[in-house]
Amino acid sequence: MARKLAAGNWKMNGTNASLAEITALAKAHPDPNCDVLICPPATLLSRLAEKTTGTAIKTGGQDCHAASSGAHTGDISAEMIADAGGSHIIVGHSERRADHGETDADIAAKTRAVWNAGLVAVICVGETLAEREAGQTIDIVAGQLAGSVPNGANGDNTVIAYEPVWAIGTGKVPTLDEIAAVHADIRDRLTTRFGDAGNDMPILYGGSVKPSNADDIFRVADVDGALVGGASLKAEDFGGIIAALERA
Ligand code: PEP
Repeated sequence: MARKLAAGNWKMNGTNASLAEITALAKAHPDPNCDVLICPPATLLSRLAEKTTGTAIKTGGQDCHAASSGAHTGDISAEMIADAGGSHIIVGHSERRADHGETDADIAAKTRAVWNAGLVAVICVGETLAEREAGQTIDIVAGQLAGSVPNGANGDNTVIAYEPVWAIGTGKVPTLDEIAAVHADIRDRLTTRFGDAGNDMPILYGGSVKPSNADDIFRVADVDGALVGGASLKAEDFGGIIAALERA
């Protein structure tokens, strides 16, 4: 059985003042029955990790370099994120794929770097609107999974996040049947390739998850939680999503 996870991606948002949201979140959810992860900008990683010590909230990075150190100005490695107190790293977010031209091979290399640092990779996949409208969703996601998830993935080192690109930050959400179809196909491909370990990898849905739609989304089979952007910035909103996942 995959563990349930509510993961927040703050993207390029947040300053020291934002840490107050974490204090409020930890107070409101001292002992959740699911995992809770916040991935702040790198500037806040170690302070957030300090703040969440002794709470149920884990801290993660939003990206890493595939190398563990070296002449890569502006980049950070998985080891550095581990050193700052991180437990997870998001790789292959569609904004990285689009803004930085990251390929499936890049994401597989980053995933191996995450594992080498002893951390959990949250590997993102998802189709664009044009791909969905062309009826290519399943093929696109299958191709990204095959190319981005290295051999050796299991429930301890890997989380998959299905995030339709057109649903991220737009307020648009696929129907529950559409989410169910993609999650079932992902689960099927994971178990075909990884055997029982494929059942242990959480599959998150991401794209405009809010407290108001979380209960419905979390009732969909093979949805083990959410990767949340905008609604993870406020303790009240993210807390509502955590509460929905606890009820699921
Ligand atoms: C995301 O960035 O991964 C995301 C799902 O964003 P939002 O929740 O804002 O759609």
